[in-house]
Amino acid sequence: MKYERLRPDEIEAIRARAPVAVLPWGALEWHGYHAAIGLDGLKAAAFADAVADRIGAISLPPLYCGHMTMKPYAGFSHTIEISAATLEALAREYVEQLAEEGFVVVVIISGHGNPDHLAALERGARPAAEAAGIALWILPDSAAIDDEEYPLDHAAKWETSVLWHVDPELVDLTQVRSNQDLESQAILGIDPVETASPELGAAAFDEIVDTIADGALELLAERSRA
Ligand SMILES: [Zn+2]
Repeated sequence: MKYERLRPDEIEAIRARAPVAVLPWGALEWHGYHAAIGLDGLKAAAFADAVADRIGAISLPPLYCGHMTMKPYAGFSHTIEISAATLEALAREYVEQLAEEGFVVVVIISGHGNPDHLAALERGARPAAEAAGIALWILPDSAAIDDEEYPLDHAAKWETSVLWHVDPELVDLTQVRSNQDLESQAILGIDPVETASPELGAAAFDEIVDTIADGALELLAERSRA
């Protein structure tokens, strides 16, 4: 269930059964000419909503705050680059607040997989979780799939497929420029034109949701045993 759509009594009932909050973390970042700017947050939100529904818990709205995006990397525009300090503060305060609100497991699914971005989330959120005595799991969606290509993919075969599955209107492969190399379009990985599909995206999506749902339930069970 989505947190922002719930009334207080509904939040309390869900939290009493499964005190797990799933927080999707995105970015506003150029993802080729063919895919929506919000790809990382859109997919993270879809993963978070599906995980929460699977385990009977709550998902939060996505935060579109990406650090070390394609803008500092290679000057891509239409991209909102956020500092590590802001990410740290936001991650810290969200975890503090979710703990104060009675959640004992927080799962942050980051659709943006840059290592510096993930490290900033850890620096902000980890001490807050430890201070509050709650379980915290921060992972990029790419860590929840058993595939060698997926973690290296940016706006290529895999990310394009996942977005195509999640929100078909937001992908238009006719926009990929055949007269321009892929990297200069911020497509890193396998050319999506002949390889991406909503079916492929659906299969990856299901595997990632399964993995994260299982992991979140395990953390909750550990908490209950403690
Ligand atoms: Zn992405």
